[in-house]
Amino acid sequence: MQDLSYWQRRAADLRPPCLAFINGRFVPAADRRTFTDTSPIHGRPLGEIARCGEADVELAARAARASFESGVWSRRHPRQRKAVLQKLAALIRQHGDELALLDCLDIGKPIADARHIDVPGAAGVFDWYAEAADKLYGEVAPGADDALALITREPLGVAAAVIPWNFPLDMAAWKLAPALMAGNSVILKPAEQSPLSALRLAQLAQEAGLPDGVLNVLPGYGDEVGRPLGLHPDVDCLSFTGSTEVGKAFLRYAADSNMKSVALECGGKSPNLVFDDCDLDAAARRAAFGIFFNQGQVCSANSRLLLQRSIQDAFLERLLREAAALQPGNPLDPATRSGCIVDARQADRIMEHIDQARRQGARLLCGGERLSIDGGDCYIRPTVFTDVRTDMALAREEVFGPVLAVIPFDTEAEAVAIANDSRYGLAASVWTRDLSRAHRVARRLRVGTVSINAVDALDPGLPFGGCKQSGFGRDLSLHAVDHYTHLKTTWVQWQDE
Ligand code: NAP
Ligand code: MG
Repeated sequence: MQDLSYWQRRAADLRPPCLAFINGRFVPAADRRTFTDTSPIHGRPLGEIARCGEADVELAARAARASFESGVWSRRHPRQRKAVLQKLAALIRQHGDELALLDCLDIGKPIADARHIDVPGAAGVFDWYAEAADKLYGEVAPGADDALALITREPLGVAAAVIPWNFPLDMAAWKLAPALMAGNSVILKPAEQSPLSALRLAQLAQEAGLPDGVLNVLPGYGDEVGRPLGLHPDVDCLSFTGSTEVGKAFLRYAADSNMKSVALECGGKSPNLVFDDCDLDAAARRAAFGIFFNQGQVCSANSRLLLQRSIQDAFLERLLREAAALQPGNPLDPATRSGCIVDARQADRIMEHIDQARRQGARLLCGGERLSIDGGDCYIRPTVFTDVRTDMALAREEVFGPVLAVIPFDTEAEAVAIANDSRYGLAASVWTRDLSRAHRVARRLRVGTVSINAVDALDPGLPFGGCKQSGFGRDLSLHAVDHYTHLKTTWVQWQDE
């Protein structure tokens, strides 16, 4: 890994893309408006970014529709689409330092995470879907002797994706790879805090051979770009990752426009159930990772630690040691394991959650403070509260920051009841050496992913998403392709001679 001075030098030399990407060209917003993209690391501007609006959504929708109808991508042989996506994966790897730096500067995630987790993750997702492109078969239905019924998968047409800022490059990859592999044309709206890597990705996709109009990237604000995309009559499907409140808005947009299909990956308050027979050292290490990775800005973060009372003291002692090792530092320093919060507004919000937890009587074990580092003031120490009651806000609301709520339990049934007592259902972890208990508890948890003796099980081949108000639909795996395709039945009839 390069050292701090290497990254500082590259950051100083960086000229990030700032314009919208429509129909294969970088263009300013139709009304020439811009917004300032700042870095939470030092509070300085990274660029004046095209502030897209309804007119740009219209241009992108027309370009996407025209490219789709022309067949230049949608009717290419799957093997040709595969080759382009594989080339894109290779280009992501080749430009890994630059892409990692863009995300690091944009949201303050540690450069080591961006370089060694996010970049290979995004490339891996494009490779995975590229590999699948020429291996997805249709079906022939059993039926009459004088007919043939075929079931084929067809691209929907124009797919839109609206994504959050916590994993800018990876979220873009999760949406784009299956949508493009299936032959759709796409319009992507990155989060206002993190437009840079998505714009660079569009350029790399063009270099990989993606035809003009097939991928359009519109930076801007949620109500100015996300909303018109959600309401657009010529967008066929929309995939959203973000908060539950905005997810609900997308359901309304679809109902008020063309009934476009909507897939939602929304918030979470994921429980981590730790039983007294588990490997305490491993569980404590992973519990800390589960809540403090990416500064807790992870939808599936294990933000509720359900701890069997008999091991409470022994476990918390270990957990505090792990938290102490994850103190925030300058994100550009490759040794840093915790970076900064995405912006001052989000840091304020997290501090309000911390103050509220204190007022409501939760006991602060560590952290709870905001810090300044090298001129930036968006750092929050890893924070652990115990004595959290299930009716407290900290046990119910998503903080989206490095704040852990520890809730004690006595019996397995009680642990399952507390875990399921949430409006969210994204993920859960279970720590136990008892195989029967592991399976029993996993069955009863109402969540999309259960990790046993692990946290945050994740792989391109596994569906990722939730139930309840964590949304519906799945990213990753072949199941994600369902959202970007529809099934066509073709019946062929013939007459007997
Ligand atoms: P957010 O406020 O919901 O924003 C997500 C995206 O929606 C952004 O691009 C945003 O644009 C846009 N948006 C905001 N308001 C909109 C509106 N009225 N109409 C249309 N689009 C709108 O979420 P966030 O704060 O960026 O991200 C944090 C949330 O995302 C958390 O709740 C987290 O749990 C969730 N998340 C979920 C997953 C998952 O897979 N389940 C993964 C990551 C994050 P702006 O640029 O203007 O903000
Ligand atoms: Mg930014």
